Amino acid sequence: MSESAIIPLAEPFLGDAARRYVLDCLDTNFVSSVGPYVERFEAEFAATVGAPYAVACASGTAALHVAMRLIGVGPGDEVWVPTLTFIASANPILYERGTPVLVDSEPRTWNLDPEPIVAEMARRAAAGRRQPKALLVVHLLGRAADLAPLAEACDRYGVHLIEDAAEALGARYTSGPFAGRQVGTIGTVGCFSFNGNKLITTGGGGMIVTTDPALAKRAKHLTTQAKCPGLAYWHDEVGYNYRLTNLAAALGVAQLEQLPDLLARKRRIAGRYDQLLATVPGMTIPSAVDWAAPSHWLYSVLVNDREAQDRLIDDLGNARIQARPIWTPLHRMPVYADAPRLGAAVADDLADRGLSLPSSAGLTDEQQDRVISTLVRQLAV
Ligand SMILES: *Cc1c(COP(=O)(O)O)cnc(C)c1O
Repeated sequence: MSESAIIPLAEPFLGDAARRYVLDCLDTNFVSSVGPYVERFEAEFAATVGAPYAVACASGTAALHVAMRLIGVGPGDEVWVPTLTFIASANPILYERGTPVLVDSEPRTWNLDPEPIVAEMARRAAAGRRQPKALLVVHLLGRAADLAPLAEACDRYGVHLIEDAAEALGARYTSGPFAGRQVGTIGTVGCFSFNGNKLITTGGGGMIVTTDPALAKRAKHLTTQAKCPGLAYWHDEVGYNYRLTNLAAALGVAQLEQLPDLLARKRRIAGRYDQLLATVPGMTIPSAVDWAAPSHWLYSVLVNDREAQDRLIDDLGNARIQARPIWTPLHRMPVYADAPRLGAAVADDLADRGLSLPSSAGLTDEQQDRVISTLVRQLAV
């Protein structure tokens, strides 16, 4: 067993076009932030997700930071965010000295539970209290959040809806008010990540998506040091060096061409896990909803308890198989321990029992069978 190659959790899956486009950058000397691939990546990404505007940037975290700036989050402004997410969802709130309010998850999609959010906004409206500046919805692990009631509440109470779709490129709604629309295209701003472990990668990168041309323009401005047109170095506000390089964008263009294949591969991997793990004792496969189609970025199951989670991660690790917990809920970490909260019980349970399994687009049936047989063997011990 120890001689077999490691099976990673999620590694890049690059095709021939990636090499050609990157070589094209080298051949033409357009390796940095000037060059045709950035604009091409933005245009093709926008068309792919079905959004009018897309602005490329250095990372998903940078995209979320720009989103905070676009809606003007500042001291005293609350942004509600799930406690069960990657920490980069929430850090940009703190970059702008806003107040993150951590919200519990719901057990079907593991995403924001609309119930306490809608109830708290209604309570505040009735009491004449200030509403949050924004609700930051995360579509975790490739599954769409239950956005309809959240969007309705945001509309009613004048709260910005921001989507962190870093883990869910390609997930879409199939019924309800957003039927046919992809995650990340519904809120005021949607953010995507092209980090190495995500569905498509540019080595590192992100995208800001919006329907508002003024916001798109300002997003571009903020990512380019807030530099005004013209030759003089004139900057009219605090901006950032958050541009994506042409080299990275070349990878992005190539990866977008692969997207249908990547999504099909992920769907097949998830389908095989579902089928082969459904009846394994001590394990619950993820539940499906009938109103959205997931992108199956990471396949994650629930085991019985935290002890089983720890043990399985170790056992799989010893068999050279990378498995991981979902995310550590933000309220458990020092930076967010004192943040106000709307529940955490479901998030805690999911965090204690969640187990993400190798889900790379290039995962072979043989590798997947090795993951499954190792799991089954260890669960029987
Ligand atoms: C990956 C990720 C991010 C951050 O993206 P980077 O490109 O790594 O900066 C933000 N939110 C979520 C939910 C993520 O998974």
